[in-house]
Amino acid sequence: MRLIPDYKGRALQQLHIPLLNITVGTRLLPGTPELTNTRKSQAIQLQQRTPSLAHRRTSLPHHVKKLYQMRFFLLVFVAVVAPIALAHLETSDLEETVDMKLDDIQYFKKKNSLRGGDKKGDALYDYDGGPGTSAWDGACATGKAQSPISFQPHQSAPVYRRVLRFTGLQQTPLSTNITNSGHSVKVKLRTLKPITVSGGVLGEKVYEFQQIHFHWGKVPKEGSEHTIGAKSFPLEAHFVFYKANSKNPSAEEDGITVLGLTYEIGKTNAVLDPITKIVDQIVMPGQFVSRSGGFTLQDYLPRDMDTYFNYRGSLTTPPCSEGVTWVWFTDNRQVSDRQVSQFRKIKDDLGLNVIYNFRETQPLNGRKVMLVKSSDKIVL
Ligand SMILES: [Zn+2]
Repeated sequence: MRLIPDYKGRALQQLHIPLLNITVGTRLLPGTPELTNTRKSQAIQLQQRTPSLAHRRTSLPHHVKKLYQMRFFLLVFVAVVAPIALAHLETSDLEETVDMKLDDIQYFKKKNSLRGGDKKGDALYDYDGGPGTSAWDGACATGKAQSPISFQPHQSAPVYRRVLRFTGLQQTPLSTNITNSGHSVKVKLRTLKPITVSGGVLGEKVYEFQQIHFHWGKVPKEGSEHTIGAKSFPLEAHFVFYKANSKNPSAEEDGITVLGLTYEIGKTNAVLDPITKIVDQIVMPGQFVSRSGGFTLQDYLPRDMDTYFNYRGSLTTPPCSEGVTWVWFTDNRQVSDRQVSQFRKIKDDLGLNVIYNFRETQPLNGRKVMLVKSSDKIVL
């Protein structure tokens, strides 16, 4: 910070903001601690040294003079308003698609306030002593094709399909955004080109990657939403894809595809580590951290993407919209107990720790579940 005279010769303190490469001047107010006698005399000396500034501007045209007089406000605009606007642009750019998870919270809160909005029962899950998932209404309560479900491998004869086709999977993201959505940790990758999936059980339909989020439990023996028989996993990641060019994917018959991946307790997962380490910075709902670069989507996914369970289900959080094509990989990845416990640190809108966020398995109601394997590997 240094002192300079303004066009009338009054003392201005000048602040340079290197990040924006801009300089802001603020007039010293009488009585402010900055206006010490030393500073005053510095300012007076500066005034005396540059008496011609005020004189020079008298020769300027009227509108230029006006602009010149307004420069303080212009500087304030550049220094204060523009960065806020840019920050918002950055956020809205990352959140440009229908943010279903945050919408879910608003939906649930609205429903809850209609019920009287008592404090108990505000949380999506019953860790607050409220009704939790049993209070979810709409399709959550009446739907006949809900998720998650329990897979029964011995009852599912394998069917063979061509492999899933991905595009843009190996792109290093321009930035990775990690957000506390209020009931999960959500990861978005900003990439130059969209990441898409088609083929396999999706056929010719093309889906565009939106976000990854996680489901966990109170203790390592639970946490996954889907189970194999009675077996739960400590963590399940959902890779959410929307049908390409769809205006309202949750309202469309085939609007959403979710890829599910579970984790077993084991060694530290290097790909999840930057996320679990950042959780401490996004404890409050809505908080996010954006970092340049990051892992590719391929790094997050399992090695074997050719073997998976497939069925038609729903979103596992309100409004539990149906018409979701589930691709749930049988291969899994490892995560350490310490990493899973990091996820439990996020807080919901009530300020309570989201100690778990998985929905119980739902009845199949006669739905067909397929264990899909790659037909590309069959040697004829
Ligand atoms: Zn999910």
